[in-house]
Amino acid sequence: MEGCIFCRIAAKEVQSKIAYEDEEVVAFHDINPQAPVHVLIVPRKHIPTLNDAGEEDRALLGKMMLVAQKLAKELGVADSGYRLVLNTNRGAGQSIFHIHLHLLGGRLFHWPPG
Ligand code: 5GP
Ligand code: ZN
Repeated sequence: MEGCIFCRIAAKEVQSKIAYEDEEVVAFHDINPQAPVHVLIVPRKHIPTLNDAGEEDRALLGKMMLVAQKLAKELGVADSGYRLVLNTNRGAGQSIFHIHLHLLGGRLFHWPPG
């Protein structure tokens, strides 16, 4: 979608530090990391929020989880622990309206989250 920063990153019109990519998904390091490991797993398809995903996106959403698992292993946080976050709408802290899964690891996390 024109003007969407994550579409532009996926299309390599905007530079990022890419951790993984295939035909459906791109993952890149967050520009403002909140943990030693902070990667965003993003579908190439522009879906504004999780509320906008449908049955046709079932496999894509599953793929995002499996890419997160693979990156957690590769980045060395699979055993120590990691957190996956998908903020939906402003009340939950979503600021980029193209869905993305945060993979956070490399430090201790508290519960409940802030
Ligand atoms: P949200 O708040 O929508 O859940 O997460 C958006 C995330 O995208 C934030 O953690 C923010 O730091 C990250 N971000 C925003 N713009 C850019 C960018 O241009 N490049 C990268 N690598 N990350 C970005
Ligand atoms: Zn987009």
